[in-house]
Amino acid sequence: MVKIEGQSVQKGIAIGNIFVWKKKEVSLKATKVSNPEEELNFFYEAREKAIAELQEMGEKAKGKVSDEDAEIFTVHQMLLQDLDFEDAVKDGILQEHLNASYATYQAGESLAEIFAAMDDNAYMMERASDFRDIAARVIRKLQNIEDKLILPETPVILVADDLSPTETIGIDSSSILAFVTAKGSMNSHTAILARSLGITTLVNTGVELLDEYHEKLGIVDGLNGRFYIDPEEDVLSHLQTEKQQYEEEQKALQELIGAETITRSGRKIGLYANIGNVEDAQRALRYDAEGIGLFRSEFLYLNRNDYPSEEEQFESYKQVAEMMEGKEVIIRTLDIGADKQADYFQIPKEENPAMGLRAIRICLTRPEIFKVQLRALYRASAFGKIGIMFPMITSVEEVDEILGIIEEVKKELLDKNIEIGNPDLGVMIETPAAALISDLLAEKVDFFSIGTNDLTQYTLAMDRQNASLARFQNIHHQALLRLIEMTVRNAHAKNVRVGICGELGADPDLTEYFISIGVDELSVSAPRILSLRKQIREFA
Ligand code: PEP
Ligand code: MG
Repeated sequence: MVKIEGQSVQKGIAIGNIFVWKKKEVSLKATKVSNPEEELNFFYEAREKAIAELQEMGEKAKGKVSDEDAEIFTVHQMLLQDLDFEDAVKDGILQEHLNASYATYQAGESLAEIFAAMDDNAYMMERASDFRDIAARVIRKLQNIEDKLILPETPVILVADDLSPTETIGIDSSSILAFVTAKGSMNSHTAILARSLGITTLVNTGVELLDEYHEKLGIVDGLNGRFYIDPEEDVLSHLQTEKQQYEEEQKALQELIGAETITRSGRKIGLYANIGNVEDAQRALRYDAEGIGLFRSEFLYLNRNDYPSEEEQFESYKQVAEMMEGKEVIIRTLDIGADKQADYFQIPKEENPAMGLRAIRICLTRPEIFKVQLRALYRASAFGKIGIMFPMITSVEEVDEILGIIEEVKKELLDKNIEIGNPDLGVMIETPAAALISDLLAEKVDFFSIGTNDLTQYTLAMDRQNASLARFQNIHHQALLRLIEMTVRNAHAKNVRVGICGELGADPDLTEYFISIGVDELSVSAPRILSLRKQIREFA
C-alpha cells in the first residue's frame, strides 16, 4: 500500500481503478528554419485548428458545467487571437527564424511570466497557466499530436501531473471517479472547475506517474486529503463504510435544496452564507444560501500593493448582488487591522492591534478611503438587494458619524446623476460595549449582526489568535450568551432584525437555543447550510 497526502479540493471518497495519464511529450527543440514565411503559415493553420477544437469542446461543455465555467473555452479562443501572443510568435519566426513550435512555446512562456509576476492578483496569476495551455494546444496541432484521453468504460481515478482547465472540463465526467494531480493549487481554475463538477479531487500530492500504479486499486479520501494506492484490506473496508455514510448524508442533504428553513411550528429562519469573494458567492448559491449575511469586503484589500479602486469594488459588489438575484447581500465595510494587515495602509505599529486601529476606526480616521468604498456600495445597491454593515462599533457617536458620511456620499452621487439604491444599514455587535448599548444602537439602524468571534475575544479578554488559551476558552460562556440574548431583546423591541455571523452561528449545539431566543438569521460558511437546515426543520 502507498499512502500519499494532498490538498482536498472537493470532498468525497472515491474507490476504483487508477488510470495514470502521462501526456505525450511534445518536442521543444529550437531549430533555425530556412523558410520563415512558410513556418508562419504553419503556425496560423495550427492556431485555426486549436480554435476550432476549443469551439467544439465549448459546445460539448455546455449543460455539463455552469455557463460561467464553460466560458473558459471562449476565453482561450480569445487568447489565441491575442495580438501580443501573435506578435511574439511572429517575432520568433520572422526575426529569429525559429521553428513554429519553439516560437509558440517561447511566446506562451513570456506572456505567462508577465502574468505570473502579478502575484498580488490571483486572477491574473491564473492567466499565466492559460497562456501556457493555449501555447501547448497550438504546439500539439503543429506536431500532429492527438492527446485525446481515451478512458475505459468503467469510471476511474484519473492520476495526472496536472490538468489544465480545458482538460478538466473536456473530460467526460461520467468516466471519472476522482482526480489526483501531482501539482496544482487549491484556488487554481482547475480546482474551481473540479468543485463545480462535483468530482472528488486532490491536488498538490506530488504523486509519481508510475506505470505500476496504472490499473491498481486506489482510494481517494477527499475528506482527509489522502490517496491510497493498492490499499490494505482494513483501510479499504473502513473507507468503504465511510464512503457509504458520507454519501447517504449528502444525498439526504441534497434533498433539502429548495426546501424552506422552517421549524415544525412554522418559524422561518434565514440561512445565509459568509463569503469573501465572488467565487464564494457561487458556492453559496450551490448550497442554496438564502442570502449573504457577511461579505468580508476586506479580502478585496488584502494581498495587493494598493487600494482597490471604486470601480473594482463596484464591479465585485454588483456581481455578487446580481448573482444572488434579489436575495439579500450584506456587505461589511472594510475590517482591516488586527490579524488582517495590508502594508500599504501603513498602520503604525501598535502594542495591541486587536484593540487598536482596526475596522471602523480606520474608516473614520481616514474618511477618504471609507468614502471610496461607500460610493462603490451605494452604486452597486442599484443592482440588487444590498445591505451595508459596519464592524467593531462601540458607540452611538460612531454610528452618527458614519450616517453623516453616508449622507455626503449619497449627495455626491445624486448630484452626478448616478443611480443608487436604498440599502438597509446595520451594525455588527462584536464588542461588549455594542451589546450593552444595543437598545440605543437599535434606534439608528435596520439590522444587527452578531460577530461572535470578536464578541467572545473581547468579552472573555482572550485573544482569538492565541492557541495556548484554548483550555480557558469556554465558547458557550454564560457572559457571551447573556450579551447575545440582551442584544436580541433590545433589537426586537425596536423592530430591528438580528443575525449571527460569527462561527458560533454554525454550532449545532446552539442552534436550538439561538432560535428559542429569537435570532432571525444565521450566516455560516456555505457547506454548513444544508445540515443546519436539516436540524432546524426538526425543531418543534
Ligand atoms: C466576528 O467577529 O464574529 C466576525 C464575523 O467577524 P470576523 O471573524 O471577520 O472578525
Ligand atoms: Mg469580527
